[in-house]
Amino acid sequence: MEDECHAFLDCWGNTSLIARRTCFLEQTWRLVPTLRAAYCNIPSLASLDRIFQHNILWPLVAEYVYELTYLACGTSENGL
Ligand SMILES: [Zn+2]
Repeated sequence: MEDECHAFLDCWGNTSLIARRTCFLEQTWRLVPTLRAAYCNIPSLASLDRIFQHNILWPLVAEYVYELTYLACGTSENGL
């Protein structure tokens, strides 16, 4: 895992992570639709900052962080 932002939004090295991120982003964009354009048009760290600014998303963020941590602490071949 390179850093938290990479794991959150950029890493394509693990199919479980990609699937979980897709679900997280779909839920996020459903609740705050403007974040979809942000994700496509601004750097990842800025996009992550915008996600954190919406407290309606914090439960989703907490769930996603938990799942990323679980993936990162799993077998060494996860390749995050
Ligand atoms: Zn990676």
